[in-house]
Amino acid sequence: MSFEPGNGPVQITEAQIAARIQELAAQIREDHAGQTPHLICVLNGSFLFHADLCRAIRVPCTVDFLQASSYGDSDQSSGEVKLIKDLQFPIHDRHVIVVEDIVDTGLTLSYLLHYLQGRGPASLRVAALLSKPSRRTAEVAVDYLGFTIPDAFVYGYGLDRAQLDRNLPFISSQAEDA
Ligand code: IMP
Repeated sequence: MSFEPGNGPVQITEAQIAARIQELAAQIREDHAGQTPHLICVLNGSFLFHADLCRAIRVPCTVDFLQASSYGDSDQSSGEVKLIKDLQFPIHDRHVIVVEDIVDTGLTLSYLLHYLQGRGPASLRVAALLSKPSRRTAEVAVDYLGFTIPDAFVYGYGLDRAQLDRNLPFISSQAEDA
C-alpha cells in the first residue's frame, strides 16, 4: 500500500470526493424532503462513501447493510452475483437509497435492485460514487452519481486491490505498464 497516488488515468483527490459528496447530499436532501430515507450500504466497497454520505445529508435517516459477491480477490467479475449478507430491517414502504462504490458491468446493481424491488419499498434510488459506463452489460439507472471514469481498475476510498488499499483517502489507478 502506498499513500502516494498511482500514475494511472483516474486520480480523484480527497478534497474532490468530499466536495462531490456535499453536492450529492444536497440533491438527496431536496429529493427526500419530509421523508426519512433508508440508506443501504453495499459492503464492502461502499463503507466509506456510505458513512460520509449519511453524515452529509443532514436529515434523519436509517441505515442497513448488505453484501453481494462479485469479484472475490480478482479484478475480473465472475459474472455471477450472490447475496452473502442480507438486510437486517424490512424496507416495505421505505424510501430506499442503495449506496454503491462503483458500477462496472452493472450486474451486481441490477441483481440487487431486482431483489430489493421485490420487498416493496415506497421508492428505490441509487447513489454510486463511481461509474464506468464503457463496461456496462446490464442497464441500470444511477440517481446520484459521483464521478464517471474510464475503463481503469481503481482503488482507494473503500475500493480494494486484493483487499488492500481500502483505507486510502483518495481514489487512484495504476498505469498498465507500471
Ligand atoms: P459490477 O457488478 O461489474 O458492476 O461490479 C461491481 C463491483 O465490482 C463493485 O461494487 C466493486 O466491488 C467491484 N469493482 C468493479 N470495478 C472495480 C475497480 O475498478 N476497483 C475495485 N473494485 C471494483
